[in-house]
Amino acid sequence: MDVVTRPGRRTPGGGAARRRVAPLLWALLVAAGVAVPVWALWQAPEGAHRGAWRVVSLVAALGAASILVLTFLLPSRFRPLTGYLGVERLLRSHRTLALAAVGLVVLHVLTVVLRPGPGLGLLDLRTAPPRVWAASVATLALLALVALGVSRRRRRPRYEGWRLGHVVLANVALLATTLHVLWLGDLTRFAVARAWFVGLATLTVGALALRWVWRPLRSLRHRYVVDEVRRASPTAVTLVLHATGHSGLEFRPGQFAWLKIGTSPFVFEEHPFTIASAATEPWRKEFTIRGVGDFSELVAGLKPGRHVFLDGPHGEFTLDGLAFDRFVLIAGGVGITPMLSMLRTLAARHDPRLVLLFVAGRTAADLLHRADGEHLEAFLDLQVVEILEEPDDGWEVGRFTRETLERSLPRTRRRERVDVFVCGPGPMVAAATRIASDRGIPGARIHTELFDIV
Ligand SMILES: Cc1cc2nc3c(=O)[nH]c(=O)nc-3n(C[C@H](O)[C@H](O)[C@H](O)COP(=O)(O)OP(=O)(O)OC[C@H]3O[C@@H](n4cnc5c(N)ncnc54)[C@H](O)[C@@H]3O)c2cc1C
Repeated sequence: MDVVTRPGRRTPGGGAARRRVAPLLWALLVAAGVAVPVWALWQAPEGAHRGAWRVVSLVAALGAASILVLTFLLPSRFRPLTGYLGVERLLRSHRTLALAAVGLVVLHVLTVVLRPGPGLGLLDLRTAPPRVWAASVATLALLALVALGVSRRRRRPRYEGWRLGHVVLANVALLATTLHVLWLGDLTRFAVARAWFVGLATLTVGALALRWVWRPLRSLRHRYVVDEVRRASPTAVTLVLHATGHSGLEFRPGQFAWLKIGTSPFVFEEHPFTIASAATEPWRKEFTIRGVGDFSELVAGLKPGRHVFLDGPHGEFTLDGLAFDRFVLIAGGVGITPMLSMLRTLAARHDPRLVLLFVAGRTAADLLHRADGEHLEAFLDLQVVEILEEPDDGWEVGRFTRETLERSLPRTRRRERVDVFVCGPGPMVAAATRIASDRGIPGARIHTELFDIV
């Protein structure tokens, strides 16, 4: 592995504080998204909010509309969101907000059909006006989305088909909600509510344009060509790309990109992979990919000269922007890829800080950092602890345990800044996080990345 060496560069601090503040700001935005339209409607002189049923119904409807749009914004790959919140938190928030929106929609429907008046007769679609049709379609699409989410957890259907269903249903739900609001005409009579809905519609169209037009166009302008695909371990290959027609997309070590293989970046299928190469060489990108399904098998068969498209960089699992004195990397299996990028970047920058790397694999051949071993040790103050499930003689046996980590993980001294990065299978990430936390490392300094997030 060649790492281009450049004069050392210490990264600026402030990242940890920013990461602590970002979720708080997001929570405030969500709260404002619900509170502002409700408050604004209360200021309307027309008495839009008279009557208990109407109050509950309106609050539920306005809250649901705002939350739906925020839920929709999260996976639109708006860089400040992916960058500050991180993919895991972003997806967690996406799920929680989606459930909250569905809850509010159900409450809204109940207040409409149970209040005195036409009641359940409203739901007779043979006689129902278009606004009720639109509301029914939106509600059914949202309930189907919840069912799809549950089925993903329980039955693990093929990801691509599942994702297509998810995207189609989400767009149907939003479109039908918009039509319901427009055909109802009730809320849009009020200037404040009208302004609010126009704002939500603008955000939604902006998110769609960003996700499905702007980002593919950006990938088109930043093509990459396959240099080589080589075997990295019995179960993984390394894909090496170089930028063509541009100087390469800048990234921070530990970030990832969505990879598309096809004739155009507008193809639907894409998969996230961590950029494993040094961030000091943005024109050259290396990915190490474990063969788990059809896409990773396709990557293994790519020929040199083939054009591919990247959408990235994304994610906040990176050491850049953090002011720390030393750091600990804990990786299981192919979860080593972000650590490889971090190590290669630190080596290229001649960073003098102490790095402690814990790495676990099934056999010695699965330890992907070993190809770089000597080079990294020459440039870094690096200590490595390797753990194997099926070891040769003399190796540490088994999986990460509290005891393994406790033996090597330094107890932090007062005022010493240690950042811990963990990436690997879910249980390993959870265990390592707990241990690091028990050792006195603050939550904001423990960074995790899961590859199985959906
Ligand atoms: C932030 C991030 C970084 C990753 N980095 C790496 C890496 O450096 N090396 C590596 O080998 N793997 C990495 N992965 C995992 C990799 O994305 C999946 O293994 C890959 O998409 C599997 O696709 P497949 O068609 O080969 O297998 P499939 O059988 O189609 O998928 C297997 C599983 O991979 C996940 N997956 C599939 N497609 C996607 C998708 N489009 N988006 C999100 N998850 C998906 C799903 O959980 C699915 O059940 C990363 C995942 C994430 C989220």
